Amino acid sequence: MAQIDERLQQNVEGEFFVDSSCIDCDACRQIAPASFRDHGGKSSVYRQPRNPGELHRALMALVACPTASIGTVSRRSARSGVEAFPALVVDDVYFCGFTSESSFGAWSYLIVRPQERGGNVLVDSPRFNNPLAKRIEQMGGVNLMILSHRDDIADHVKFAAHFHCPRVMHEADGAAARGIERVTTGTAPLKIDNDLLLIPTPGHTRGHQVFLYRDKVLFTGDHLAWSPERETLTAFRDVCWYSWAEQTRSMEKLLACQFEWVLPGHGRIGHGSAEEMHKHLELCVARMKKE
Ligand code: SF4
Repeated sequence: MAQIDERLQQNVEGEFFVDSSCIDCDACRQIAPASFRDHGGKSSVYRQPRNPGELHRALMALVACPTASIGTVSRRSARSGVEAFPALVVDDVYFCGFTSESSFGAWSYLIVRPQERGGNVLVDSPRFNNPLAKRIEQMGGVNLMILSHRDDIADHVKFAAHFHCPRVMHEADGAAARGIERVTTGTAPLKIDNDLLLIPTPGHTRGHQVFLYRDKVLFTGDHLAWSPERETLTAFRDVCWYSWAEQTRSMEKLLACQFEWVLPGHGRIGHGSAEEMHKHLELCVARMKKE
């Protein structure tokens, strides 16, 4: 719970505040940009919610915050924020909210599909908590967990145990030692089912992989994200833990894919036509080769 006596001085006066435990993960700024800003190394409230819509978004940010750094002076109920997750992104793809400090606030997603199409898929892991697990149960549970890489797996053990679902992860990121049921190997793309293609993308980590859903949504973990500053797709060299050259080669491989959405673990969500996204990806590859 956020501590009022640790309230950052950069917050404007009023109900919502961020305390000093903020790890600058960016989640609140993405979820409630009308209220939260980056003031350099941490977030703060620059404007209190002005209407029910902004209040709802601020409560969603409070719930999603990995470090419980967002508080309200009146200790207001966050119920509407809790009940908002999983929150629809596009078609049958939802953002899970409830990010985890162990994955530095990485975003995870739920694909909601009928059983005949393979059932629901959890993409990377949110922070485990009962209200979210219950909501996911109401939405059909989880048939499969697909994990992009070692950093964004958070409470995968608890979710797998709760939903009795197998997990998919690459051997090069220590999948076997983690008790993962379906350990992937090599660098060749692998069809998980008719909707989902797993594409190994070594670079950020040795065993990183991305997932292409219905030739429309690309779940990118920490491999690729939208940059609002550059207004194009980007990769993060300063947090490339394995090999930038390898990550660049992996990025080039994705030029063969068609997608309209990039849903990352870290960084911003990107959206455009397939042609636009292809051009952005070409630019990203070209830039990576020079960096
Ligand atoms: S969501 Fe929480 S940890 Fe992340 S930037 Fe906002 S206040 Fe900081």
